[in-house]
Amino acid sequence: METCASCGRRAPRDKVVRYDRTIVYSTDLKTADDVKVMQRRKMYYCVSCGKSRGIFEKKKRQAMAKYNR
Ligand SMILES: [Zn+2]
Repeated sequence: METCASCGRRAPRDKVVRYDRTIVYSTDLKTADDVKVMQRRKMYYCVSCGKSRGIFEKKKRQAMAKYNR
């Protein structure tokens, strides 16, 4: 079971959409001391949230970009 990142509903793994999101943490110092951390997080959305948040469109675009390379 996975928890939807949007509505918090729990759904079986084959009923959720996995979406890898890159989150950037930055200290925003705008100097050489600025620290930036990139973190990839796996987010899970249930089918209805995936639709309303455009996850399917994003995934389709990602797949197309990979295909055209
Ligand atoms: Zn949901």
